This record gives sequence, C-alpha cells and structure tokens, in this order.
Amino acid sequence: MARRKLIAGNWKMNGLRTGGLALAGDLATRLGLEAAAGFDMLVCPPATLVASVAEAVRGSAIAVGGQDCHAREKGAHTGDISAEMLRDAGASHVILGHSERRQDHGEDDATVRAKAEAALRAGLVAVVCVGETRAERDAGRAEAVVAAQIAGSLPAGADAGNTVVAYEPVWAIGTGLTPTAEQVQAMHAFIRAEVAKKVASAGALRILYGGSVKPSNAAELLGLPDVDGALVGGASLVADDFWAIAVTCR
Ligand code: PEP
Repeated sequence: MARRKLIAGNWKMNGLRTGGLALAGDLATRLGLEAAAGFDMLVCPPATLVASVAEAVRGSAIAVGGQDCHAREKGAHTGDISAEMLRDAGASHVILGHSERRQDHGEDDATVRAKAEAALRAGLVAVVCVGETRAERDAGRAEAVVAAQIAGSLPAGADAGNTVVAYEPVWAIGTGLTPTAEQVQAMHAFIRAEVAKKVASAGALRILYGGSVKPSNAAELLGLPDVDGALVGGASLVADDFWAIAVTCR
C-alpha cells in the first residue's frame, strides 16, 4: 500500500519568536518551490509559537502541530493546553506520549490514550509515540514493550487519517545512535501488525521513525518499506538539515 511520507519536526523546548518564524518561513519557501513534493511536512514548535508559526506558514503546505495537550477540553488545569486550543491556534496535529513526557511527567499509556482521544475529539491528528529503552532492548523486551504501548496508547476510533504512530527508541533520541536498518524495518512491520489488531486501516496508517535522524542516515531509514516518514528532533532546528532529510523522499 502506497503511503505518502510525513517529515515531522519536533522543536521541543527550543525557539523564540524571531528564530522560530524565520525557520518556519524558510521551510515554507522551500516547499513552495518544490514542483510536486513527494512528502508532507509538519513542524511542531513550542506552544508559545504555535499560533504565530501557523500564521507564518499559512497558504503553504506545511502543517503545524503541538507537542502535548490535556485530555480535557477546558477547566481548572493551570499551565495546560487543550486540543481545542491547539486547533484554535492553527494546529492540525499534536505529538502525544513522547518519551520525554513519559519520563519527565510520568505519563503512562492510559494518559497518552486519553490525550490522543482528546486530539481526535478536537479534529487533530494524533502522533502517538512509542519506543523501548536501551535496557528493555538489551533484555529482549523491545517488541513486548512497544506492543503494550500500542495496545494502551492508541485512541479509540483511530484510523489512518486521524492517527500516526512514531517509533522512537528512547536510547536513540538525541544520542546520535540509531538501530540498524534491519532492526527499524522489523520493528515497524511488527508495529503495523500490532496496530492492525485495533485499526482496520493499519495498512494505510503512517508509522514514522524517530531517533537521531539526520541528513546522512535519512535516505537509508526513509527507504525502508514500513517507514512512512520521520519524527526529527535536533536536526529539525536547522532548515538545511531538516530540508535535506525531507528531500530524500522526493
Ligand atoms: C525526538 O525528540 O522526537 C527526536 C527524535 O529527537 P532527535 O532527532 O534529536 O533524536
């Protein structure tokens, strides 16, 4: 099944107004000059920049996403942002269950699932992150861990149009380390089979790889049959690098 690649940038807690708008504007210009880009592009700036980046890329093919949302629509949740607020600010996607949120904020699968269901309620695409730690992989538990995350984190009502899965081995994020191409393909095929237990359109659902994707390894990773794009952290902060990753999908 042909799946259009999605190249997504997770800016994490990086970016002030001037630099963030310049980065988004640069990417929008480059994408506008592509005759027929063979990929979709998503940028996920910090919450403070979602509205202004959405405004800056309006009219371009770049989609804008948040990096987290609360499960509730509104209420007494100081410091939190709802999926509806992200949508109102111009977002179309939201990253959920990133390992940094699972670690730093104690988010478990049930929390991630509730947030993903909030995303769908608000009309956002949920980008649900899963991935094992180094210790879990070394113990031969990578597939079991990821299967449990898929079973517990995917929202009710997930389909290929409203949900994306990002496989991000925790030990590969920001470390410069990556699994081998064989390990990535094997895990993506495994994830698709696990998703198929819950989602009828699993064959069309996009599964992104994330973890130290850079221009030098992008072609190999993005050329794998079950890799439908990338979730890029550090390299998404540099327009030349993010663009070099994207155009491997031309
Ligand atoms: C991420 O945080 O989603 C990520 C994949 O980071 P990096 O590309 O820097 O490893």
